[in-house]
Amino acid sequence: QLSKRLAMVARFVPKNTVLADIGSDHAYLPCYLMNKGVIQRAIAGEVVKGPFESAKRNVQANGFADRIEVRLANGLLAIEDADEVETVTIAGMGGTLITSILEAGKERLRHVKRIIAQPNLHAIAIRQWAIENGFQLVDEEILEEDGKIYEILVLERGSAEYSPTDLLLGPILRQKSSPVFRAKWERETREWVRVLEALDKAEQTNEIQLKKQSIQTNYDLVRKV
Ligand code: SAM
Repeated sequence: QLSKRLAMVARFVPKNTVLADIGSDHAYLPCYLMNKGVIQRAIAGEVVKGPFESAKRNVQANGFADRIEVRLANGLLAIEDADEVETVTIAGMGGTLITSILEAGKERLRHVKRIIAQPNLHAIAIRQWAIENGFQLVDEEILEEDGKIYEILVLERGSAEYSPTDLLLGPILRQKSSPVFRAKWERETREWVRVLEALDKAEQTNEIQLKKQSIQTNYDLVRKV
């Protein structure tokens, strides 16, 4: 049984695509997609030996060793031009790490039409990377599982401009304005107020003041929505 979070990522994977799942851990996502007959073949990339071994075991146990190749590699180094990967999934990491993986390996994205990213935090970094690198958001989703809120960003090639508010909140999530979306930003703004109060009590160094300003800027953006 796939988590609700990964099942939502899976919903954005096009039929018959060639997939690379980066940071695949147990390779649950490619195995699920293969079981459902969604994908043709896949690469499961993992940089850590332990998860790499469990991905291999899981792929073998599902009988997909000929169609899911598990590779021990850092980020997008798991894929090569000859693989003709069209869809990349990167889930369950921080937005900053996802962004650095995309940035470090962007020349490997030549055949890639769609990137599905599920950052645990800092989705803004991915949105910013997208517009700077010829991608745009074609869909976004937000969900809650076990008390945690997750965002899913679907990128395809194209150019777009987003306002600071859209970069922070997500242009499509903002339009959809679901109850989970509203709950997320209520939680965030409450946390910001708490942090600002704590920072007010600290010695007002330059660093503290910059931190306060940046939180205040985000707070003002969200409160206007
Ligand atoms: N994608 C799965 C999911 O969403 O459930 C696993 C998420 S797990 C929290 C993150 C995985 O990414 C870990 O197995 C970690 O070893 C792997 N990882 C982190 N940095 C990576 C990198 N630069 N290249 C490949 N894998 C990486």
